[in-house]
Parts: sequence; C-alpha cells; structure tokens
Amino acid sequence: MRGIRPLVAGNWKMHGLGTSSAELRSLKDRLAEAPVPEADAIVCPPATLLARARDVLAGSAVALGAQDCHPLPSGPHTGDISAEMLADAGATAIIVGHSERRTDYGETDALVNAKAKAAFRAKLAAIICVGETELERRQGATLEVVRRQLQGSLPRGARARTTVIAYEPVWAIGTGLTPTPADVAEVHGFIRGELGQLLGQTEASLLRILYGGSVKPANASELLFVPDVDGALVGGASLKASDFYGILLAYAGRGAG
Ligand code: PEP
Repeated sequence: MRGIRPLVAGNWKMHGLGTSSAELRSLKDRLAEAPVPEADAIVCPPATLLARARDVLAGSAVALGAQDCHPLPSGPHTGDISAEMLADAGATAIIVGHSERRTDYGETDALVNAKAKAAFRAKLAAIICVGETELERRQGATLEVVRRQLQGSLPRGARARTTVIAYEPVWAIGTGLTPTPADVAEVHGFIRGELGQLLGQTEASLLRILYGGSVKPANASELLFVPDVDGALVGGASLKASDFYGILLAYAGRGAG
C-alpha cells in the first residue's frame, strides 16, 4: 500500500439548479450516518450553486470545488470567473483542462497551465485533466498524448498537496465505455513516471492521480484498486447522491490502493 489518501471528485458539469441542493444534503446525511473515512470527497457544481452548496455542505466530510477559471484574478472579461472569485464563493479546488473545455473552446495546454497557476495563486488545488481521444488511442498515441498534455499543462512549481491529475480517456467520458484495468494501470504508471521527471520523485510519489470516465458504483472496485489509481473523477454518477456515495463505498473498509 502506497499510503496516498484517495479522492473521489464529482464534476457536475452544466447540471444543477437550486433544487439540486437536495442531492448534496442527501450525500452529507449518508456520510454522516455511515462515513467512509478511507477516502476524501469533493463535489464541483456549477459556479451558480457554489454559495448554496457551501452552506449545505458546511460541517460535512464533503469538500467543495469548482469547474474552470480565467487565468487572471480580475479584469474586463465578460462572463468569466477568476480563481479568486471561486475561492471567495467557497471552492477549495478547480477542475482545469477538462476534455470538454479543450474540445469546446480549443483550450491549449498553455492555457490549462495558466489556469492551474491561477488556482494556486488563489490558494486552491488544481485538478488537471489529461487523456487521449478514441482516434489517438487507435493510433497507439495514448502515452505520447498524455506526456505532451502533462508537459504543457502542469506548472513546474506544482506540489502534490495542491495538485491532482485526472486521467480521463475522452472516449470513456459519458459513454459507458471504460479501459481495461490493465490499460488504466499502464497509463497511470506512465503518468507517475512522467511526474517524477517533471516534479521530482518525492512529489510524484505523493500526488494523486485520478481515473475518470464512466465510473459508477458497479465498476468502482474494478477501476479504483488498480495500481497508481488514487481515486476517481466522476461525471454523470456524481449527480445522484446514491451513486456518488456508492462509488465512495468502494473504499469502505479498505485502505489506499
Ligand atoms: C467527466 O466528465 O469528468 C467524467 C468522468 O464523466 P462521466 O463519469 O460521466 O464519464
């Protein structure tokens, strides 16, 4: 056992209205009744729900995170939100470089790097996403793509305490498809090695590497106890308290992977 404390992170994407607070309350209640002390949990709702979610989750075992930020602290950028604003609203971490942002908005590794630095500047953790497309996997380019994304997206001063890498094969996101545990092990082991080159062995050995892509309660045990997998980034299944809690339950009674 390596002793890295696992993290299960929920990415609500563009889902959720005020009524969704009920799911957060339910998650909080479930964890109060039957805690899963073996893992950390964080939920990243849309920015519009952060303040309400902060109030609902106060005093619970669930931390609050946000999705995406502008690289600058403030300025004339209509519609954008800075890391400082997300911190002010209660977030403790920000997901950056998600494949949906890379695809929908053409976000480059350099921009993702700047956003991760913005999170650090605001004293927040950065959850930095990397992962290959289906075509890249078919072309045998998975490791090359992941290496390039890591080299470009990960700020050099990143520390394990405030940085999380999420490996999310794009073809597995929201599709119900998942890589085999052996494939996950290969990429996660590769990422750990790359982190060693980029940040040094000590930071690399402590930094959490999450798997993301169609994680559900039914496949959590299979995917999350693979070597070098330190938790999950969960999209669809994070919207329902019962599913998110079900994924966390995979860790109950078990230590870090
Ligand atoms: C995600 O978008 O980060 C994700 C992992 O989505 P899903 O769990 O729905 O595949």
